[in-house]
Amino acid sequence: MIISFDNFNASFESKILLLLRLKLIVIMSDTIEKVKCLIIGSGPAGYTAAIYAARANMKPVLYQGTQPGGQLTTTNEVENFPGYPDGITGPEMMLELQKQAERFETDVRDGWVTKVDFSGDVHKVWVNETKEIHCDTVIISTGASAKYLGLDSEQKYLKLGGGVSACAVCDGFFYRNQEVVIVGAGDSACEEAHYLSKLCKKVTMLVRRDEFRASKIMANRVKNTPNIEILFNTETDEVLGDGQVVTGVRAFNNKTNEKHVIPATGFFVAIGHKPNTDIFKGFLNLDETGYIINVPGTSKTNIEGVFVSGDAADHVYRQAVTAAGTGCMAALDAERYLAGKDATFEVSTSTYN
Ligand SMILES: Cc1cc2nc3c(=O)[nH]c(=O)nc-3n(C[C@H](O)[C@H](O)[C@H](O)COP(=O)(O)OP(=O)(O)OC[C@H]3O[C@@H](n4cnc5c(N)ncnc54)[C@H](O)[C@@H]3O)c2cc1C
Repeated sequence: MIISFDNFNASFESKILLLLRLKLIVIMSDTIEKVKCLIIGSGPAGYTAAIYAARANMKPVLYQGTQPGGQLTTTNEVENFPGYPDGITGPEMMLELQKQAERFETDVRDGWVTKVDFSGDVHKVWVNETKEIHCDTVIISTGASAKYLGLDSEQKYLKLGGGVSACAVCDGFFYRNQEVVIVGAGDSACEEAHYLSKLCKKVTMLVRRDEFRASKIMANRVKNTPNIEILFNTETDEVLGDGQVVTGVRAFNNKTNEKHVIPATGFFVAIGHKPNTDIFKGFLNLDETGYIINVPGTSKTNIEGVFVSGDAADHVYRQAVTAAGTGCMAALDAERYLAGKDATFEVSTSTYN
C-alpha cells in the first residue's frame, strides 16, 4: 500500500510520528504468530495431544519448557506404561513419544511460556517474555512438580536414581520385600504408605507433627496395617547411603532432638505436588492447591478453546498413562471445538483410524 502525505495537513513531526506508528504496527503483525493449536508442555500429556492434533490436521506447535520430556526424564525405569513389555528408561520413552509426534509434523520448539491472556476472543500466549502467539486453541500440559525436603543427601540419591522417589505407585515395585521409609502426613502419604505396605517388608512413616493431616479413615487404615510403623514428631536429618544407593535414614525426634538410624533401601517423599499453573491464575479456575479445574469427564476449562491434560489437572492418579489419555481427550476436544467454530475445518476421520 502506498500512503501519500503530500496533501496531509500536519506538521513534519506529526507525519514522522505517524510513520513510526505505522512501522510499529507492521513489525508487530510480522512478529505475532497465529497458531491453530498450541500445546504447552512436553510430557506424556503434551506429546499425546500433539500426536492426535497433528493427525487431525491441526498443525500443532508444542513448546517443551525447561524440562523436555517432562517428569519421566528423571526416572530410570518405567515398567507400567503399556507397550513396553521389558520396561524402558524414562528419557528413552519420552524421546520415542517426541519422535512419534514429529512424524506427523508437530512443530516441537524450545521455549518457556511466560504469560497468557485468555480474556478476549483470541487466546494470547507469550514465549520467553517476547514472542507473542495468537491461538485458536491452547492445550495446557504443564504437569506438576513433586515437592522434596531439599536435603543435600536426598537430592544426591534422587539424581543418582539410587533409592529416593516421590512416587510409590511408580517405584514401589522395585522395593519388594525390602524396608523403606516414607515422609508425609496427608491423605496421599497415607495412601502411598498403604500401597508400599503391600509390597515391602516394612514401611516406616515419618510424621512431623503429633498427628496426621490425613482424614481419619486414611489415618486409621495406616495405623491398622501391621507392617507400617508410624513415628510422630519425627523428621529426616539425612538420607544415608554408600555413595550409590540408599542404605538408611537418620531421623530425629523434634521434641527431644534424639537421633536414630532406620535401615532402608528406599526413601519415599510424599509431601505434595505443585502444579505448574501459576501463569494461568486469574484466567482459569484453579483449586486451592493450584490444579486446573476441568469440566468433569472432559478436558475443557472455564475458557472456551483452552483445554487441559495431564498432571496439571490431576491430583489423584498422576501417572504417565493417565496423562497420555487426557492428552488424547484434549486434542479431540480441541478439534471438535474448532470444527464447531469454523465450518471449513472438518473433524478428521484420521483421528479415529
Ligand atoms: C521420579 C518419578 C518417577 C515416575 N515414574 C513413573 C512411572 O514409572 N510410571 C508412570 O506412569 N508415571 C511415573 N511418574 C509420574 C509421571 O511422570 C507423571 O504422571 C507424568 O509425567 C505427567 O505427565 P504430564 O505430561 O502431565 O506432565 P510432565 O511430565 O510433568 O511434563 C510437564 C511439561 O510441561 C513443561 N512446562 C511446564 N511449564 C511450562 C511452561 N510455562 N512453558 C512451557 N513448558 C512448560 C515442562 O517442561 C514439561 O515438559 C513418575 C514421576 C516421577 C517424578
